[in-house]
Amino acid sequence: MDQAFTDEMKAALLKEQMELTGELGAISHKDVGDHVPGSRDANFPNFGDDNLGENTESPAEVAEYEVNVNVTGRLEQRQVEITDALKRIEQGIYGTCLKCGGPVGEDRLRANSAASACINCAKSHV
Ligand SMILES: [Zn+2]
Repeated sequence: MDQAFTDEMKAALLKEQMELTGELGAISHKDVGDHVPGSRDANFPNFGDDNLGENTESPAEVAEYEVNVNVTGRLEQRQVEITDALKRIEQGIYGTCLKCGGPVGEDRLRANSAASACINCAKSHV
């Protein structure tokens, strides 16, 4: 894999990782419970629109929380993919399909800089 291309992808991955950290910080917090270390819990919103008492969960808050849980899960998953891709850059195997050892392809990596399989393997996996 061409060094300039790898550098470009590395910059894109680091940028996305930073953005993800910001997005995750906005809707979740570090889980201090007995879950997986480093996992995050979605924030429970408080819109302050429930006049039933401050600890009451209004339907709007519960709905928003469910969205936060989903988005947090998706962002965390993406963060893992990006961390793995950055590891592959360090190991010098970035851009190599993890399934067949063939090239992932620059177009595919431009579309998804964290792609770990070539288009054929990604298709046959589904
Ligand atoms: Zn492959």
